[in-house]
Amino acid sequence: MKVRIRDIGSSGLTLEQSVLPHEIGVEEGFLISTEPVIVTAIIDRAGEIILANVELTACSQNECARCLAPLRQRFVMKYQFDFEPSPGDEFIDLGQRICEEIVLGYSSRILCKEDCLGLCCGCGADLNKDKCQCKNKNS
Ligand SMILES: [Zn+2]
Ligand SMILES: [Zn+2]
Repeated sequence: MKVRIRDIGSSGLTLEQSVLPHEIGVEEGFLISTEPVIVTAIIDRAGEIILANVELTACSQNECARCLAPLRQRFVMKYQFDFEPSPGDEFIDLGQRICEEIVLGYSSRILCKEDCLGLCCGCGADLNKDKCQCKNKNS
């Protein structure tokens, strides 16, 4: 997802594009590969520097960090990138920066609900649905 520097006029450039995760290089499994990532970017020049305010909406497939229940989530992330193009550069690569942010900034501490009870570390029961079996044995 490259942006031609020449297209960024004095009043900036607004982009709205939907791309599939692999098109911006996200190969990790947590984004649903068939669900497009919607990218809205407002790109401005500040002297030699190019500033991009990016908002993206993506769908992730994950599991709850406590109970391992599969989760599908739609989330919105906002980033601000700055680019310092070298003389002669024609494009800035917005997709690559987005990819880095998604891969690096992604939190694996996702819960299916705030008060998820998780799995019993003794018997592995899903405490949201089942009773712990080890307590039964002890009593
Ligand atoms: Zn959970
Ligand atoms: Zn247990």
